[in-house]
Amino acid sequence: MTNFTVGPVQMDEETRRIGSEQIPYFRTQEFSALMRENEALLRALFDAPADSRAIFLTGSGTAGMEGGVMNFFTHDDKVLVVNGGSFGHRFAELCAIHEIPFTEIKLEFGKPLTKEILSQYENLGYTGMLVQLCETSSGILYDMNIVGDFCERNGIFLFVDAVSGFLADRLSMKEMHINAAVTGSQKALALPPGMSFTVLDGTAVSRCEKTRPRSLYFDYQMCLKDGERGQTPFTPAVGTLIQLNARLRGIEKSGGISAMNRAAKERADYFRRRIAHLPLRMFVAPENASNCVTALCPARPDVGAHRIFEILKDEYGIWVCPNAGEYADKVFRVGHIGHITQEETDKLIAAFEDLARRGIL
Ligand SMILES: *Cc1c(COP(=O)(O)O)cnc(C)c1O
Repeated sequence: MTNFTVGPVQMDEETRRIGSEQIPYFRTQEFSALMRENEALLRALFDAPADSRAIFLTGSGTAGMEGGVMNFFTHDDKVLVVNGGSFGHRFAELCAIHEIPFTEIKLEFGKPLTKEILSQYENLGYTGMLVQLCETSSGILYDMNIVGDFCERNGIFLFVDAVSGFLADRLSMKEMHINAAVTGSQKALALPPGMSFTVLDGTAVSRCEKTRPRSLYFDYQMCLKDGERGQTPFTPAVGTLIQLNARLRGIEKSGGISAMNRAAKERADYFRRRIAHLPLRMFVAPENASNCVTALCPARPDVGAHRIFEILKDEYGIWVCPNAGEYADKVFRVGHIGHITQEETDKLIAAFEDLARRGIL
């Protein structure tokens, strides 16, 4: 199978080779040194300030979202949640569960967050904001410069879910006034699923010292303390952290974050250019589309998006990403993250062309 989903994605050969090895014991100097290097490399890739720290949580991206909500906010906060799709909705659910007062900014699915929309929330006493970098359900990339300026002006603590956008789209904690950002192992890092990585600036670290989450596993203060000696409170996904180390070193060696962003853009642009002649419409305006994924609608109303997903899987050996709920039959997505070659992208385009020839598309 060729995998064009948004995660788990295809892993490179080195990641798979490490995955085939025995898992070492981890309460050692050697593993601590590897973890300290992981932290330094991640902080650099998030373009985080000098006093920033990283948290390595064994739990998928959602665990990182939940841990952030629990450790950065209390009942005394007043949080803005950008809800433009299923991941924005998840932040709202997390605030409700943890009884963090919040207001949702509900966006039309696939539509951008504009200055005009945000201007309605100026000077209203909000203390926190939760937003995706890329809302993966529609593939929209939010303008983090607009969001960051708004938060800075209003003294708002900004926590960004960059689970899918990290490495594919531009992210700078320093320039975008981001206090904390989270990513996951199975998206553009192209590791096995099951871990989330959060980078915290000094403000986020001091928030963790004040909040008292009613949880042992999600106690970030404890994670930060153990992290000082390159350890985690509980047994982490040790193998994934070793794969992370190799991956982060590889990224640094091949030009760092700007080279990663550039390659992601080239890959997304190539795909979008090459399907322009097909009866498929980009769901998000190209200028607002993330480099990590392209959401597509069949141009003909009688063609179901879910059927395209099924046929590609069963007859062509290709996974694209179906949508859920209301959009299940209107939209499907093609991911551009992970170890995908141009030949594989060409194979997907040829499959679309074949579907058009067969009258299915
Ligand atoms: C994938 C993803 C997550 C995390 O999902 P998990 O299934 O918990 O790993 C969170 N936010 C966004 C934007 C994502 O794309």
